[in-house]
Amino acid sequence: MNHFELREGELACEGVPLSRIAEAVGTPVYVYSTATLERHYTVLRDALLAAGLKDPLIAFAVKANSNVAVLRTLADLGAGADVVSEGEIRRALAAGVPPERIVFSGVGKTEAEIAFAVETGVAEINVESEPELHLVNRVAQGLGRRAVVAIRVNPDVSAGGHAKIATGKAENKFGVSFSEAERLYANAANMAGVRPAGVACHIGSQITDLAPMEAAFAKMRGLVERLKREGLPVERLDLGGGLGVPYFNQPEPPSPADYAAMIGRVMAGLDVQLAFEPGRVIAANAGVLLARVNHIHERPEGRRFLVLDAAMNDLLRPAMYDAYHDIRPVRPRVGEAAPYDVVGPVCETGDTFTRDRDLPPFEPGDLVAFMSAGAYGAAMASEYNSRPLVPEVLVKGDRFAVVRPRPTYEDMLAREQAPPWQ
Ligand SMILES: *Cc1c(COP(=O)(O)O)cnc(C)c1O
Repeated sequence: MNHFELREGELACEGVPLSRIAEAVGTPVYVYSTATLERHYTVLRDALLAAGLKDPLIAFAVKANSNVAVLRTLADLGAGADVVSEGEIRRALAAGVPPERIVFSGVGKTEAEIAFAVETGVAEINVESEPELHLVNRVAQGLGRRAVVAIRVNPDVSAGGHAKIATGKAENKFGVSFSEAERLYANAANMAGVRPAGVACHIGSQITDLAPMEAAFAKMRGLVERLKREGLPVERLDLGGGLGVPYFNQPEPPSPADYAAMIGRVMAGLDVQLAFEPGRVIAANAGVLLARVNHIHERPEGRRFLVLDAAMNDLLRPAMYDAYHDIRPVRPRVGEAAPYDVVGPVCETGDTFTRDRDLPPFEPGDLVAFMSAGAYGAAMASEYNSRPLVPEVLVKGDRFAVVRPRPTYEDMLAREQAPPWQ
C-alpha cells in the first residue's frame, strides 16, 4: 500500500497534489511519502515481531535511498542502517542512526573506510573475504581497538530476478563459502583486532519467491549451529535484504507477513539476534519520479514518442536492468489508450523508459509520474549530459519540503576547476 492516489482527478502524494510540487520545484523531481516509508517499516517490523523474533535489527539499506531526510524518517522509528561506504556511514550518522545499529557491508572496503567504521563503533563489519578479515584485524589493532565482525557467506543459491542484482551464487563476487566461513570464523576468534559476532548473507534483490530464501536461511542456521558446537560464540545472524516489492504488472512478491513467518519457522529456537537489511521493500513504493512531457513526436511509420524532461540520468533502472515502472498521468485525460515509446532527452538510445506501452492520452506540458521509484532512483542519479542532479522532495500530510535542492548551473560548474596551465 502507498499514499499516492487520485484526489479530485489528480494524483497526489498524501495531502499534496503533485502538480503543486512541480510548480514549486520544477521537474524532474523525486517525491517521497513519509506515511508510506513509515508504513513499510512498521509492517515489516511488526511481522517479524509477530513471527516471534526478539529484538530484530532492521538496518535499512542506505544505497536504496540515501537521502538524509528519508534516513531520519526511518531512524526515528528505530531503524538501523546497512551501509556500503564511509559516505553512507556519514549519512546514517547525520540522520541520527546510532552506531550500534549500523552494519557495514561491501566487498571492497578501503583501509580508511574500515578505520572510520571502527572508530565510529558500528554494530558489525561484514567481512567478505579472507584478505579483508586480515585488513580489518590490522587496522583495528593499529587503532588499539577490536572490531566486531560478521563473516558474509555466499550461500550459492539462485534467487531468480535480474542477473545484475543476483548476489548469492558462487560465481558472484560477494562473500565466502560455508567451509571457508567456518575456518575464517575460528581464525577471527584468535585475532587481537577482531571479535567475530555473527554471520551474514544477502542473496539478491527483488526476490519474489520465498523458496530460495528459505533454502539459504536454513543453510545459514546450520552454519550457526556448527559454529556454536565448536564452542564459538555467535550473537547475530544477518539475513540481508532482497525481499521484492509489488511493481505494477510484475510477479507478486511474498508479503512481509509470509516472509517473517518463514523466518520464524526456519529460525525457531535458535538463540541469536536476527538482523535484516531491507532496502527496496521499504523505499520503492514510497517514491515517484515526477516529470513533464516536453513533446509528442509521431514518426510517419507509426511510432509515437513521449519525450519527457526526465532521462536515464535521473532514473537509471529501465536502462540498466530493463526495469518496469508504471507510468501514470498526474491529471488523467479522457480518451483511448495508445502505444507510446517513453523516452528522455539524453543522447543515448538506452534513454528509453519503455517501448510500445499502452498509455492514456497525453498533451505536451502534462505531468507524468513514474511509480515505485523511491528505491534505486535518486540514489543512482547522475549529471550525465550536464543535466543538474535531480532534486528530492519529502511529503508529510499536507506539507512538503525540498530535501535535496536542484543545483544551479553555477553550482554545477563551480565543482570543476582549471589546471594551472590553462
Ligand atoms: C543492496 C543490498 C541490500 C538491499 O537490498 P534490497 O533488495 O534493496 O532489499 C541489503 N544488503 C546488502 C549487502 C546489499 O548489497
